Amino acid sequence: MKHAIIVGFGLAGFQYALELQKHKKDFIIISNEEEGSSRSAAGVFNPTVLKRYTMSWKGKEFFDQAIITYSLFEKTYNTSIFNKVPIKYYFNRLSDHNNWTVASQKKGLNHFLSQSIINKVDGGLKGDFGYGKLKNLGKIDINKLLDKFKNKLASDCFSQSTFNYKELKFLNDKIEYKGIKAKYIIFCEGFKLRYNPWFSYLPLIGSKGEFLYIRTKAISQKEIIKRGLFIVPMGKDLFWIGANFDRKYKTLRPTKLGKEWILSKLKDIIDCSFEVVNHKAAIRPTVLDRRPLLGSHPIEKNIYVFNGMGTRGVLMGPLLAKWMYNFVVGRKKLYPEIAIDRFETYFSNPRK
Ligand SMILES: Cc1cc2nc3c(=O)[nH]c(=O)nc-3n(C[C@H](O)[C@H](O)[C@H](O)COP(=O)(O)OP(=O)(O)OC[C@H]3O[C@@H](n4cnc5c(N)ncnc54)[C@H](O)[C@@H]3O)c2cc1C
Repeated sequence: MKHAIIVGFGLAGFQYALELQKHKKDFIIISNEEEGSSRSAAGVFNPTVLKRYTMSWKGKEFFDQAIITYSLFEKTYNTSIFNKVPIKYYFNRLSDHNNWTVASQKKGLNHFLSQSIINKVDGGLKGDFGYGKLKNLGKIDINKLLDKFKNKLASDCFSQSTFNYKELKFLNDKIEYKGIKAKYIIFCEGFKLRYNPWFSYLPLIGSKGEFLYIRTKAISQKEIIKRGLFIVPMGKDLFWIGANFDRKYKTLRPTKLGKEWILSKLKDIIDCSFEVVNHKAAIRPTVLDRRPLLGSHPIEKNIYVFNGMGTRGVLMGPLLAKWMYNFVVGRKKLYPEIAIDRFETYFSNPRK
């Protein structure tokens, strides 16, 4: 018998499997490997909220655990997935200078915001008001991370298929799926949770993000640029450019309108020629109150959910997985801000 069945192999499923590995618990991951949110993400992790010049909820705790987890992963898998690269935050107006200076002296934020303001523009970019530099952070190569982990799993630990909800059986203190018995099942389905018969009552809204890959030699590959859009270096003169936030999307595919919006924003930031080499879209698993969704089903206690990481899966995944494991196995309470119990009333009055 397996310890757990994990459905979905994005950052949530991966982080939970990694946590199980750490505790020497066996598992099987069932994932159809459609390109979810994780494999589309730029991989940037940043615990600050620059719009408001504050730290995100428990940002430093998430950050510290992320560094520990990704560094350990690099060592264990003898690979390099963490790129410590600064983010240059280009200002839109002069008053940003004052906000930045005040924020960069605040405890917590001072670990990430360099005090000096740089009144210069780098090659290939535009900027009348200079920039501030975010330090001690960077980006993760998510596709490499997921592939490295998956390729080292034994063949009975991964099934590339779509989970068929109708085939899940509830036995006394365990569950069974197509002959595989396990103590419990945990759904890490990203946006697809909306179609899950046990958890579709949760207010997972979803926010579509369109992004481009462009090629240019004129911009440096050594830093990430943030000015409305992110310009994220991907090596070999390639850059990930995005993304928009669209909650009212009609299609999951990239759109002409989305591309035009990104290009118009991009032309406000860069001052060089480039070639668009790809245009894609994915849905972020965002929640009504913008907090993750962790917990067990109100009735079926052997069914769990780990979802709702929104725009911060890279940062939050490692610590959330730890909390999730402690909740499932150690029976430790989850913070009320992330526990799905906060949406209990939605369960008695489910969405149609
Ligand atoms: C354009 C864009 C840019 C982003 N940039 C960043 C960034 O720079 N930094 C950051 O931290 N976050 C970023 N994010 C957010 C980040 O991608 C998410 O927070 C995170 O990846 C969500 O991971 P997940 O595992 O919950 O979902 P997903 O990555 O969507 O994974 C779910 C997986 O489960 C599979 N699945 C679902 N249902 C089933 C089923 N029934 N049977 C089998 N398989 C199933 C899906 O196919 C998918 O592979 C970005 C998101 C987008 C869209």
